[in-house]
Amino acid sequence: MIEPIYSAKPDRYESGMKYRRCGNSGILLPEISLGLWQNFGDTAPLDRSRQMLLHAFDNGICHFDLANNYGPSYGSAEATFGRIMQSDLRPYRDELFISTKAGYDMWPGPYGNHGSRKYLISSLDQSLRRMNLEYVDIFYSHRFDPDTPLEETMQALVDIVRSGKALYAGISNYPTEAAAFAYSYLRAHGVPCLLHQLKYSMLHRVPETEGLLEQAAAEGTGFIAFSPLAQGLLTGRYLNGIPADSRAARNFSLRKDTLTPELTERLSKLNDIAAKRGQTLAQMALAWVLKDKMVTSVIVGASSKEQLDDNIKAIADTSFTAEELRMINGLTVR
Ligand code: NDP
Repeated sequence: MIEPIYSAKPDRYESGMKYRRCGNSGILLPEISLGLWQNFGDTAPLDRSRQMLLHAFDNGICHFDLANNYGPSYGSAEATFGRIMQSDLRPYRDELFISTKAGYDMWPGPYGNHGSRKYLISSLDQSLRRMNLEYVDIFYSHRFDPDTPLEETMQALVDIVRSGKALYAGISNYPTEAAAFAYSYLRAHGVPCLLHQLKYSMLHRVPETEGLLEQAAAEGTGFIAFSPLAQGLLTGRYLNGIPADSRAARNFSLRKDTLTPELTERLSKLNDIAAKRGQTLAQMALAWVLKDKMVTSVIVGASSKEQLDDNIKAIADTSFTAEELRMINGLTVR
């Protein structure tokens, strides 16, 4: 079948999506962003990936989050994105905010991992080729590398922005002290850090407990949360066992044995709180992260358009009573 030519919905910015300013920058990001870590590689049906990306864009989601090794296989999520860029999204390039990253394992040998200038610059060149792009909107150092001088990693980010291959620079998974160095180095070199990307959800509180949220806010840097649904735990997905088509069933990044009876019982109680709020558990989990104005956006993963629709509805109510917060803390802080 020949696919009809995609034409974005004319009311995509009036469909309810809200946008938040990213730190002290000129950039606004949608409260819900879409990440391509797991469901867009070459093992996923291309048509489903296309439908999800276009559906997201039609609903005001203009920020797509990628990294060099997203797939599986490595590089294939960027290649999928590149195909859809070419076939459908090219006319909308200036409406899109596209990220990529380097920092984890990508290719064999000493230059395909960690934080060297050699790795970051050559990896971005590969990413641009796979994604059919001349530039990305933000390029991240994907993790802090204690064995590479941080000056080298940060200067690579500065030079990448100066080269025009990325418009902004960001960091991801940096501990507090390294983040402080990164913020001041980048600012001193005229490329202020746009975003810190960290894991943050009701079940994973490190950005709160380590002061990383406040630190980003104080630096004028935006904060973007990844795995806000704890890879699907904070949804209705696992309330009655492990579905065969779920991430936990693949037993890779989300291990089956995470789902102890004790956790399942807590998730069920969280689900009851969500129902009283008139939300699904997924909606409440996203709303919980977005309740904090220091958070710019949450990056969700999704394996269907229906999940995406469910998640988008979270933004309708992101306020919580003190009693709800107390009950949620009782079930999630360990
Ligand atoms: P989530 O916590 O949003 O988990 C996504 C998974 O949850 C989906 O694959 C799906 O599972 C399930 N799900 C999502 N919505 C629903 C719903 N409404 N109802 C039921 N189940 C649902 O995020 P991810 O862990 O996927 O991470 C999101 C993004 O964050 C990544 O794509 C990536 O861009 C970024 N990221 C960044 C990292 C970094 O180091 N900087 C590390 C990890 C992620 P199922 O597939 O079983 O249907």
